Amino acid sequence: MNRGIPVNEYISGVYAAGDVVETLDPNTGRKGLTPIWPNACAQGRIAAYNMAGHKRVYGGMIGMQNAVEFREIPAIAMGLTQPEGEDYEVFTDYRPERSLYKKLVLKGDVLVGLILVGDIRQAGVYGALMKKKADVRPFRHLLMRDDFYYGHVLRRTG
Ligand SMILES: Cc1cc2nc3c(=O)[nH]c(=O)nc-3n(C[C@H](O)[C@H](O)[C@H](O)COP(=O)(O)OP(=O)(O)OC[C@H]3O[C@@H](n4cnc5c(N)ncnc54)[C@H](O)[C@@H]3O)c2cc1C
Repeated sequence: MNRGIPVNEYISGVYAAGDVVETLDPNTGRKGLTPIWPNACAQGRIAAYNMAGHKRVYGGMIGMQNAVEFREIPAIAMGLTQPEGEDYEVFTDYRPERSLYKKLVLKGDVLVGLILVGDIRQAGVYGALMKKKADVRPFRHLLMRDDFYYGHVLRRTG
């Protein structure tokens, strides 16, 4: 209808999942296509539950732009990675000698986008913060650290 098949959060009625569907991006509040493999798997799982009579809600995925590996160097990009305007703060750390790159995009105290290259171990933690629109103020100063991990979030938010 628009660019993909519009579905609700149960992805039911018309059961559709994967590259062909439009879903809500909780980060931007906009519906759109997120045609990558992890989203297709998550949506397929929800559609299958609902087809089988178990009502499950699809909570939406952060617009993940890519999850790839080039010559054994993993990279992942999520959400808004090329922000425009003064509402955003961008933090970058580039260390070519170690094939590392990290970029975080914040809108106020909410993480709205990221690119990780080389070390993607904490992509899940960053992704969860984005999805929950978490207030990162208590641990904002730690976000760019190499050793940032879930424990920092727990310790500072109780
Ligand atoms: C070149 C390339 C590189 C990619 N790289 C990445 C990557 O690095 N990371 C990542 O996360 N994602 C990547 N993707 C995207 C990923 O492959 C898709 O998001 C994922 O495969 C979507 O799964 P799907 O089941 O929705 O669709 P598909 O995998 O496209 O499956 C749709 C199936 O439907 C079948 N079909 C079509 N029409 C009909 C019909 N009329 N009747 C019956 N069957 C039909 C097709 O033959 C196909 O088997 C890449 C895609 C491409 C093309």
